[in-house]
Formats: sequence, structure tokens, C-alpha cells
Amino acid sequence: LPERLAGLLAERAARHPLAPALREHGRDIGYGALWDAVRETAGQLAALGVRPGDRVLVVGENSLAQACLIFAAGLCDAWFVCVNPRLTAREVDGIASHSGARRAFYLDGASPEAAAHGARHGAVHLPAPAPVGRWLAGPLNADARPEPVHADGARQCAALLYTSGTTGQPKGVMLSHRSLLHVAAVSATLRRLVPGDRACGVLPVSHVYGLASVLLGTLHAGACLHLVPRFTPAGLLRMLRDDGITILQGVPALYARLLDAAAGPVVSTLRFIYAGGSPLTPALKARIEAAFGLPLHNGYGMTETAPTISQTPVDAPRADTSVGFPIPGVAIRIDGTGGELWVRGPNVMLGYYRDAAQTAAVLRPDGWLNTGDVVRRGADGALFIIGRTKELIVRAGFNVYPLEVETLLNAHPRVVQSAVVGRPGPDGDEEVIAFVEARGEGGGSGAGDAAALAGELSAGLRGQLAPYKLPARIVVVPALPAGATGKVLKAALRDMALALA
Ligand code: ATP
Ligand code: MG
Repeated sequence: LPERLAGLLAERAARHPLAPALREHGRDIGYGALWDAVRETAGQLAALGVRPGDRVLVVGENSLAQACLIFAAGLCDAWFVCVNPRLTAREVDGIASHSGARRAFYLDGASPEAAAHGARHGAVHLPAPAPVGRWLAGPLNADARPEPVHADGARQCAALLYTSGTTGQPKGVMLSHRSLLHVAAVSATLRRLVPGDRACGVLPVSHVYGLASVLLGTLHAGACLHLVPRFTPAGLLRMLRDDGITILQGVPALYARLLDAAAGPVVSTLRFIYAGGSPLTPALKARIEAAFGLPLHNGYGMTETAPTISQTPVDAPRADTSVGFPIPGVAIRIDGTGGELWVRGPNVMLGYYRDAAQTAAVLRPDGWLNTGDVVRRGADGALFIIGRTKELIVRAGFNVYPLEVETLLNAHPRVVQSAVVGRPGPDGDEEVIAFVEARGEGGGSGAGDAAALAGELSAGLRGQLAPYKLPARIVVVPALPAGATGKVLKAALRDMALALA
């Protein structure tokens, strides 16, 4: 097993240089060519002043250029900081300054947003290795201070990745080569990936799910990843039909959009389909399985665990929406009273960058990490996600987990998605506020229509939930506020709830 990210490429390049590693713009790039490009990129980084322990900011969509920079940073003992170019200027600049990056690269090939971020920072085009062409590089940050390099190369920090910011400010998670490689190896094994597989690279590699499980997992198996710079339902449906794709990993929201566009069976060469990253409802799982004619596997994780914690086994598809069993090497513990999940294993982060207080709040010196997620175990030991500790609403002394209410709301055919938050009520107790994004009949934008839908949903919940769990308000909105990975921003919704009359 390789100890460092570059090890995924070096050995494979020596033995099977022509085997396809990545596919971009309809062209395969072999392991040999990718490895050559990575080594050339590493030389460029050094020439551009990147030292061991420096951070390298990579603002871009999924691309060969991005993969080159990821592996080259690792070769230089620098950390890569992958950023989704669809973040706002404020968000990108926040990450650039928090990470103290020495150099920033803006991959403008497939992203006008990346070009705009680069222009704002005075980036200029520099030649890149031949298969890439060129990229935009920002100026040298003379104030950047390299971090110490770990004596043990496997424990050296490889990546600084920011969390989705669902519950508040995104946190910068430091992940070692070992953490990322552990998840890559497990992903390849659990998905039974073989060199002939063609995986769909539609999840952003700027998020840890797309990075470790999809990109690194595919390369670990010696398979080929088809890079999708930007998700469009029509484009993905075409790719699944025409390009010989065998594995699809997505998030529930991606599948929902795909099914809306397909409006019927999805024609594909897929062997396996996976969801993960956010809650999967029984209704959506059933729709996906019917459309693809395949069982949908489910997994759970977080940026802090690179990301995989649990996964359903491929040979034992489940009828329920369990997130499966802990992956090999990962130990779990469930807090007796609250039901909070703790994990320990090689995938656990080194810590939050420049935030000792938040690190100490979740990561114990003995290696146990508090996930902040509340779970229960089924009779066979499989894990089910109940909700997040931070989202817990306490009403009349009883616990309300938003996920339970959201799952029921989402079952209504007109509900695209929903989000439930708490707010202090007039009686000094917390009240449950539900926001609902609706489809059809003007998306619920008509005031009368919205009120009718809210009334219908409220009546529906009454038969299914204990009174203390019932929303005090159901607010129908055209769209829920979402981050770059499509996750609903609960912190923003709590502010919206406070602002309600
Ligand atoms: P932040 O930590 O900044 O508030 P975030 O926790 O959403 O944002 P991520 O690391 O991207 O950032 O997401 C991890 C979280 O996503 C988990 O802690 C869990 O709450 C949720 N999650 C991941 N997979 C699943 C799943 N299969 N089912 C339900 N929830 C999931
Ligand atoms: Mg989190």
C-alpha cells in the first residue's frame, strides 16, 4: 500500500503506463502521462516558490489541471487547499487568508468563476504541463509561513479542506496522506473497483467526498475517472448512456435533479450506484432504485474523517435508509445518553487548522472524534442517522430532531426539499419552524397557493408526529439557501426564522 498520495500513481505508471487514469473532454489520459504531468507540475511549484509545509490554493472544477496540482503539492510536501470556484469572492478570500496560501491557482478552463477570482487577485497565465496547457497563477505571497513537515511522511498533512458550513462558519480540516489513502483503499475495495471500471467524477473534487472516495478511490483501483467539470442533469444522463460508466457516486440532491430530468428509466451501463453526504429519504431511495433498476447503496461521513465513516455492503443491499456499518479500521462508540457518535481510526483528521479551541472541543488526545451526529443502531448493528446535536430542538423538555420532521415533509410530492430549525418562542420554549421548497403551480410562489400547501403539510404531519414535534410555522419558499455542495445552510435559516413575524 502506498504511504503517500503520489504512490497511487508512481507504481501504476511504471507497470501500466497506458491504462487510462482520467478522462477529460472525451480524451483518456494514461497513468504514465498523468504521472509525468504531476512530476512536471511539482517542478513548477518549486520554481514558483512553493516550499515544503506551504499551502497551495487550487480554485477550480474537476479537471486534469486540478488533479496535477493535488498530487504535485503532495510531492513537494506542501498542502493543497481545494476550493469550489462557485463560492463567493468573500468565501474564497476568507479561505485564501485563513489558509495563508503561498500560491493560488485558478483553473479557468471550465470555470468563468475561477477566471473571475483569478482576475481579482491579479493572476496571470503560465504554461502548464502539455496535457493541461496553461493555468492562471496568482502572485507569490511573501508573508506565507511554511508549517513544520512531519518526520513520518504518511502523517504529513496533505490537504486542508473546508467543511460545508451547514452549522456555521466552515472549518479548515487538516487531513494526512494516510487518512486520505485509507479512505481511498476502502472505497476501492468496498466498491469492488477493478482496472476496467469507469467511474463518474461528477461530485466536486474540492469536497472531501469527491476527492478521497471518488478521485483517489478510483485511482487506487487503477480504474479510470471521467471528470465532469460541472453537473447538468442532461449532460450526466448522456454520459451514463454513452460513455461506458460503471460506477456512480452522488449525493441525494444530485439524484433528485437527475430523476426530475430523466422523467422515467435511466439508460446506463452502471453496475453500482451510491449516495452519501446528506440524509436519504425512503421515498427518494425508492424512486432512484426504480429509475436505475439497481439497488442504491448509502454511506455516511464528514470532512473530519476524510470522509467515510460507514457504508452499506455491496453484496447486501438494504431496503431501509441505513448508512451501513463502520468501514474497516474505524472504531465507533455511541454516547449512552445522547446517542452521539464518536469515531477513531486512521481516517481521522489531524485537527482544525489554526483553531486549537475547536479542535479540542471535538478531538480527544486519545484519538476519539465526536462527530456531532446522533445515531441509532438497528437490530443487525447497522447505523441510522437521527440528526445533528447542533440542530437539536428542545421543546417542552422533549428532543426534536429536524431530520424526522424533514423526512415526513419531503415525502409530499410537491416538496423539493425542506429544512427545520428551532427558534426561541414567545413562551420561553423553543419552537419548531419548517421551511419548504415546493415545485409546481408556480413553485408555491403564489401567496394563496403557498398557504394552501402549508396547510396541507401541517394537516399531514398531525397524524404522524407527537404534538411537541409539530412545526409552529411552515414557510413555503421558492428556494432554500444552499452552499457550494448543495447543502442547505441551517445557520442562515435560523436567522430567517428569527426574522419571521
Ligand atoms: P459544517 O461542519 O461546516 O457545519 P457539514 O457538517 O455539513 O458542515 P460536511 O463535512 O460536508 O460539512 O458534512 C458532514 C455531515 O453531513 C455529517 O456530520 C452529517 O451530519 C451529514 N451526513 C453525511 N452523510 C450523511 C448521510 N448519509 N445521512 C445523513 N447525514 C449525513
Ligand atoms: Mg460538520
